[in-house]
Amino acid sequence: MSYVSELLEQVKQRNANESEFHQAVEEVLESLEVVLEKNPQYIDAGIMERLVEPERQVVFRVPWVDDNGKVQVNRGFRVQYNSSIGPYKGGIRFHPSVNLSIIKFLGFEQIFKNSLTGLPIGGGKGGSDFDPKGRSDNEIMRFCQSFMTELYRHLGADTDVPAGDIGVGAREVGYMYGQYKRIRNVYEGVFTGKGLTYGGSLVRKEATGYGLVYFVEEMLKAKGDSFKGKRVVISGSGNVAIYAARKAEELGAKVVAFSDSNSYICCEDGVNCDIVQQLKEVERRRIREYKDRDAKASVHEGCSGIWSTKCDIALPCATQNELQKEDAEMLVKNGVIAVAEGANMPCTPEAVEVFQKNNVLFGPGKAGNAGGVATSALEMAQNSMRYSWTFEEVDAKLQQIMKDIYHSAATAAKEYGKEDDLVTGANIAGFLKVAEAMKAQGAV
Ligand code: NDP
Repeated sequence: MSYVSELLEQVKQRNANESEFHQAVEEVLESLEVVLEKNPQYIDAGIMERLVEPERQVVFRVPWVDDNGKVQVNRGFRVQYNSSIGPYKGGIRFHPSVNLSIIKFLGFEQIFKNSLTGLPIGGGKGGSDFDPKGRSDNEIMRFCQSFMTELYRHLGADTDVPAGDIGVGAREVGYMYGQYKRIRNVYEGVFTGKGLTYGGSLVRKEATGYGLVYFVEEMLKAKGDSFKGKRVVISGSGNVAIYAARKAEELGAKVVAFSDSNSYICCEDGVNCDIVQQLKEVERRRIREYKDRDAKASVHEGCSGIWSTKCDIALPCATQNELQKEDAEMLVKNGVIAVAEGANMPCTPEAVEVFQKNNVLFGPGKAGNAGGVATSALEMAQNSMRYSWTFEEVDAKLQQIMKDIYHSAATAAKEYGKEDDLVTGANIAGFLKVAEAMKAQGAV
């Protein structure tokens, strides 16, 4: 049995029933096999065994009182994965599906993503199985305060700096930050994605979606192509999806479909992003209600059918494993030329294989959606300086970071004999910096 297969076996045994975590580790370990062959010193230093084991995992009770006066109990998580290149950094997710496996897969991926940005941030992730849907503002606030009443002791501007993710937007970040500040009595950049009135950065809200499109534009440019005149399908209709759509449109593409967890909508003339934003970001309604405001649209039940919509570029921006082998085959049959992950691990390994076998340009989430955390690191930098950059300044830095990420992934892929394989390239480029830092710091 090879070193990597043996390690993978150990990971599976030690972390039984954590299928998403196994999936993420398997993808990374397999692509690093070529690096380990060339650099046995990483094996000698136990880098891989240490990488797959989080530095710290915190699981806690979150009791809160609902509007009917009833006590509810949720489970909170924070996995502090790796701090070799900077303080732990990674979002907080509120969704009923959240469990330790999901938080660990996200935290593990975050190590390499954060390294790829070139900025000094380690990897972490957190969340809760709390479902914000249908809850009043007061219930959300009480939940967030209770969540932070435990979590605060593990955080700090130089220790661990969370941000938003699924179910955690500006409102939730505000409530959590407020509670942290109250308990700790310090005004520090301990959260990113904060509101602009209390230390947030311009462009942070747009950053993941914009960054994804900057990345894809660079990927297309390398093949002499661009977004201009392309039909784009985007799954989800949350933070990442909305701003990816806006930037794709700005670059001359037409976005023809969006989804949420219940249904998807199509519009041949192009979906109106203002309506989507108003519906989802402002009014927190369902995507199917889009049709009430634009009669030209069609509504389809269920979200997975979205991949049968003909397009040139597909951007899965909802959640993990939302795009499977059959969906990939359908996209290929319909002539897709590029797919890039706005969400974390939205394509199953079998789907990625279909894209790669059919020479579809494929951008993995670790690289494609790194613009969010990169801009979070820019928010941390501004907080430390007690200074704010303009929209144009932050946007220019984001664009440059996304270009650099594309080129480091592409270069690493080529160097290790896997030209155009950005999955392998991103894993290698992200890994090398972390491995070197870990080796230098000794067995800690
Ligand atoms: P939001 O909560 O803003 O939006 C999530 C969207 O995905 C919603 O439209 C939601 O629909 C939909 N969705 C959620 N679960 C499912 C499901 N099981 N099936 C289909 N659709 C679903 O989250 P974000 O936009 O922030 O995050 C989206 C993805 O991007 C996640 O994978 C996240 O980890 C990743 N990401 C986010 C970053 C950020 O900066 N926000 C940074 C990097 C990655 P509904 O409204 O019905 O719930």
